[in-house]
Amino acid sequence: MGLLVVGSVAIDSIETPFGSVKDALGGSAIYISVAASYFTAPVRLVAVVGGDFPREHIRFLESRDIDVDGLQIVREGKTFRWGGRYHYDLNMRDSLYTELNVFEKFNPVVPSGYKNSAYVCLGNIDPTLQRQVLERLGKPRLVVGDTMNYWIEHKPKELAETIRFMDVLVVNESEARLLTNEPNLIKAAKQIIKTGPGIVIIKKGEHGAVLVTEQTIFSAPAYPLENINDPTGAGDAFAGGFIGWLARTDDLSAENLKRAVVYGSTLASFCVEKFSVEGMKDLTYLQIQDRYRSFMQLSRFDER
Ligand code: AMP
Repeated sequence: MGLLVVGSVAIDSIETPFGSVKDALGGSAIYISVAASYFTAPVRLVAVVGGDFPREHIRFLESRDIDVDGLQIVREGKTFRWGGRYHYDLNMRDSLYTELNVFEKFNPVVPSGYKNSAYVCLGNIDPTLQRQVLERLGKPRLVVGDTMNYWIEHKPKELAETIRFMDVLVVNESEARLLTNEPNLIKAAKQIIKTGPGIVIIKKGEHGAVLVTEQTIFSAPAYPLENINDPTGAGDAFAGGFIGWLARTDDLSAENLKRAVVYGSTLASFCVEKFSVEGMKDLTYLQIQDRYRSFMQLSRFDER
C-alpha cells in the first residue's frame, strides 16, 4: 500500500518533573514513522536533517524498516532543534527554543518510488510544505494531517488551503478551538468538516481522543498509566498508530476507523512512558495487542 510520512526530524532536549534528556531523537515525522512501523513496512520518510544528525539514529530508523531515501542530509547544515519544559501538570509545557536550521530552506523532494503512496501522513510542519508534498504525489487513498497553534496563528490562509486536501485532520483541543473560534469541541469538529476533511480527530491528552464525522462520534479513553515520564510526541505517535493500522488493513470502514483510533491511543500510551522514542523502540506486536485489548476492557459495560 505504501505509507509516506512528512514532518520534522529533530534533536530534542526535554525536561519534565520526572527527569530530562539532552540531544535526543525527536520530531513529528519520527514519532509518526516509528509508531506506524509496528503496522506497515516500509514507512517512507520525507524530511531533512543536517550533517550533525547522528548515524545511530539513521541505523535505528532502518532497523524499524523506515525507508530513509527521502531523508535529505544537508551536510553543511544543522538539524532542527527543539527544547521543551513540562509543568507539574503535564498538559502544560513551554517551548524553550526552536531552531529551524535546515528546515528554513527545506524543499520536500518526493523520491519517484514514493509517488504511488496510498497513505500519507502530513506531520506538523509549515502547511505550505505539507501542500507541496501532496502536489508531488499521485492520488492517495487517505491523507491524514496534523498542525499546531503556530501555523493556525501565522499562516491561516495557507493552512486552510492545505486542510482542504486532508481526509482526516488530527488536532488537540486548543488547536481545534483556535482554528474555529468555537469553544464546544463537537461543534468545532463539525465546522472543520465543512472545510474539507470528512473526519476530525480531537486529541484530549490524558482524556483520550474523539473521532467526529458528519454522522458519527466515537470517543476513546487514554490508557490510565501510573508512570508518564515524557508526553512529547504523544499526538504524533497517535497519528502514526492510527494511519499505520489503516495502511495495514486498507479498510476505511467506520468500524475500522474506531480500531485505528484505539491503536493510535495504544502507541501514544507506550510513547509517554519513556523519554524521546525510547518507549516505542522495541515493542512486540503481542505487547501492542495486549494493550489494545486492555483498552477494550476499560470502557466496556453491559446493558444490565
Ligand atoms: P508534540 O508533542 O506532538 O507537539 O511533538 C513534539 C515534537 O515536535 C518534538 O519532537 C519537536 O522536535 C517537534 N516540534 C516542536 N516544534 C516544532 C515546529 N515548530 N515544527 C515542527 N516540529 C516541531
